[in-house]
Amino acid sequence: MAHEHIDAVVVGAGVVGLAAARRLARAGREVVVLEAANAVGTVTSSRNSEVIHAGLYYPTGSLKARLCVQGRDLLYAYCAERSIAHRRCGKLIVATHEGQLAGLKALQAQAHANGVHDVAWLTASEAQAMEPQLQCVAALHSPSTGIVDSHGLMLALQGDAEAHGAMLALESPVLGGRITDAGIELDVGGAVPMTVLARTVVNAAGLDAPAVAGRIAGLDPAHVPRAWFSKGSYFALAGKAPFSRLVYPVHEGSWLGVHLTLDLGGQARFGPDAEWLPEDTRSNCIDYRVDPRRGEAFYDAVRRYWPGLPDGALQPAYAGVRPKIHGPGEPAPDFVIQGPGVHGVAGLVNLFGIESPGLTSALAIGEAVVGLVDQSPA
Ligand SMILES: Cc1cc2nc3c(=O)[nH]c(=O)nc-3n(C[C@H](O)[C@H](O)[C@H](O)COP(=O)(O)OP(=O)(O)OC[C@H]3O[C@@H](n4cnc5c(N)ncnc54)[C@H](O)[C@@H]3O)c2cc1C
Repeated sequence: MAHEHIDAVVVGAGVVGLAAARRLARAGREVVVLEAANAVGTVTSSRNSEVIHAGLYYPTGSLKARLCVQGRDLLYAYCAERSIAHRRCGKLIVATHEGQLAGLKALQAQAHANGVHDVAWLTASEAQAMEPQLQCVAALHSPSTGIVDSHGLMLALQGDAEAHGAMLALESPVLGGRITDAGIELDVGGAVPMTVLARTVVNAAGLDAPAVAGRIAGLDPAHVPRAWFSKGSYFALAGKAPFSRLVYPVHEGSWLGVHLTLDLGGQARFGPDAEWLPEDTRSNCIDYRVDPRRGEAFYDAVRRYWPGLPDGALQPAYAGVRPKIHGPGEPAPDFVIQGPGVHGVAGLVNLFGIESPGLTSALAIGEAVVGLVDQSPA
């Protein structure tokens, strides 16, 4: 079996792994990205809302809040620089009855506390002047929310990483590994199985990040969270989109509710909803098909802010699965970005629970990773 020495390995070629690889390669590191699938970005990075979040929701000072705001700015700049399709279309968050006004006020305060100062309070008539088909008692307007072509983004990241010398190995699943005195050894499957010895390993395996970390002998299992999966299904709207901005209800807990997003072609879709998958679900056995029966609940939820939704207008579209590290009923934790200062293994960075706003935050996560790889072990 081949035994390779590599400076830095990134496990996983989703948007986060590619952003980390690009950043490491630009810092002059020799980088190999090991990806289990036969193409980049086939898992969560291509099954999401493609929204560039402004950073309103997350607890102030959390990684989610900080990396979302930093990542959003980096992402808009990168899209402009690399001509990646995107649109700063803005979004309305709507209260549909008086009982939601306090929640809307609290969200505005949270946004300000997170450094998002452009969020404006709108009366019902101001909101309806912007979106005539909207039903609400008040709304917040977030002008810095937008949408992005996630595939275009990943291709640009891959291109940049490769232009700085990074190599991408597809169909190269990391099966396990061990911590040695010489570095981190990884067993890689695929057509030509091999063992690689790396000074730096960034575990960006998304849904499988806890599983990959759990198979590295010598890493204290106390630092590996348990994985949970929450499926989110989308329904597409047949016909013309009723709104030109994204429309979200006031959120309930960590779930943003059944919202309306637009793709860059102007088509509208609703979702994602939230469905916990059974505890023993394996990532390679997930059924991503959308159960048409879940659409029934969408009609009620959507008609609260868009009473004009016609019967039969929603078609099952696609689904994504959130890489959760908390179970049903538990509060959503922050992103977990663990470097040597936490787990004590030189050169290892684990990325756990990178759910939304992970797409928005990807470039900022890349910056955080580069700052951690050479951290002294705890
Ligand atoms: C329904 C839904 C909606 C969302 N909407 C938004 C949104 O609008 N805006 C936003 O900012 N974020 C959103 N997100 C979050 C965002 O999609 C994710 O945070 C982001 O895509 C995570 O990227 P990743 O690279 O960490 O994971 P992934 O894209 O899952 O990539 C991980 C990669 O690792 C590979 N891999 C796994 N195991 C191994 C192994 N053993 N060896 C080698 N490779 C391996 C996989 O094949 C995969 O390619 C949403 C998420 C969901 C589920």
